[in-house]
Amino acid sequence: MSDVIPAIRGMNDILPEQTTLWRAVESRLFDIIQRFGYQEIRLPIVEHTALFERSIGEVTDIVEKEMYTFADRNQDSLTLRPEGTAGCVRACLQHGLLNQGAQRLWYYGPMFRHERPQQGRYRQFYQVGVEAFGMAGADIEAELIRMTYRCWQALGVADQLQLQINTLGTAEIRQTHRTQLVAYFTEHRHLLDEDSQRRLTTNPLRILDSKNPALAECIANAPSLLDYLDAPAAEHFACLQTLLTAADIPFTVNSRLVRGLDYYTHTVFEWVTDALGAQGTVCAGGRYDKLVDMLHGPSTPAVGFALGLERLMLLCQQQQTIRQSEGLTVYVVMAGDAAQLAGHNLADQLRQHIPQLVVIAHCGGGSFKSQFKKADRSGARLALILGEEEVSANTVGIKWLREQREQQTLPQAELLSYICHVTEERQ
Ligand code: ATP
Ligand code: MG
Repeated sequence: MSDVIPAIRGMNDILPEQTTLWRAVESRLFDIIQRFGYQEIRLPIVEHTALFERSIGEVTDIVEKEMYTFADRNQDSLTLRPEGTAGCVRACLQHGLLNQGAQRLWYYGPMFRHERPQQGRYRQFYQVGVEAFGMAGADIEAELIRMTYRCWQALGVADQLQLQINTLGTAEIRQTHRTQLVAYFTEHRHLLDEDSQRRLTTNPLRILDSKNPALAECIANAPSLLDYLDAPAAEHFACLQTLLTAADIPFTVNSRLVRGLDYYTHTVFEWVTDALGAQGTVCAGGRYDKLVDMLHGPSTPAVGFALGLERLMLLCQQQQTIRQSEGLTVYVVMAGDAAQLAGHNLADQLRQHIPQLVVIAHCGGGSFKSQFKKADRSGARLALILGEEEVSANTVGIKWLREQREQQTLPQAELLSYICHVTEERQ
């Protein structure tokens, strides 16, 4: 074992015992997203490094220290995507999607960031991303938030997640606020840690995002951007709040909420939980009206969110809200050449005629005894038995593996309706 090359730290295998839960969660999320009229887009995992530098911002944590960047064999600088929005916008521009009216898109897949691995924070992690292009109002923001809320409800974790919203206003508003912020933090420079002192000159708004508890009080007293909003920005934010209230979605305004990426303007939001310790943000998003411009596309309003699957999965596991699907599994044991031929065909007939039924056909021969052991270990609820006798009489034996029911023999012609009946019995 010691010679086995292990996986890279922070990059996890998702083992068979967990994939059922992953699938259950994924399919519920995808179903809800599709039913809001969003279409799936599939994007490459690797992009040109410049795409992320230009979009996420050069002085953000992600670009400064978290990206997996490497030179490929032509010496082009490539990066494993740390998030999906930049690639999604790139694809929309490359294929002219933004000239075809408003777009509602979603994607799913692994993202990569070189962070210190801990619970809820990994170097490869999965995100569901949803992006809406061409709509400037608060209505589309409320739609996205409503969609996430429906997701939490469908997964039974709505009461574990709290919605926080904020507005970052426009670039001009942020500039005024920035000046005040820099003046304030400069005055309190002696209270700042090394990271925040550096950000004072590079990206002062990000100081508000610091997770260092020693800075909490200093940050709490810093000038709030909400005090610098102009009338349209204030109205936009008020409109979102009216829509959320009408949708009966509870929220709090957190004026300290900023995002770790530079491209956001106006609305930002996060769904947070206190059930997962430090890694409490399960889903985060906001408006990014300037990003398409920054990537040299036609100026297009846009809004989106990304949802971290591992954190959501931890929450679902902790709350035990998802019942594993209890589909029926049968295991076909067969002994003798003729039984093997008949058995695999019989198994396939069942698969073709009964949706959701799982049929494992034994492979590898062996005695009935050893086959039953494997049937038992497979988790199957019943075994179908084919030996020479059954084949010549066109019958099949039925043995219940988990409950006290009598073993019986049926004509093969009756098997289908028997299994159908058993499946219905379970619903
Ligand atoms: P955090 O503040 O926790 O570092 P972030 O602001 O960097 O999060 P975003 O870039 O907004 O995160 O990504 C959206 C979501 O993706 C997060 O809310 C989280 O659920 C998930 N996520 C981000 N980074 C990681 C990671 N390293 N491991 C697991 N999930 C992550
Ligand atoms: Mg982060």
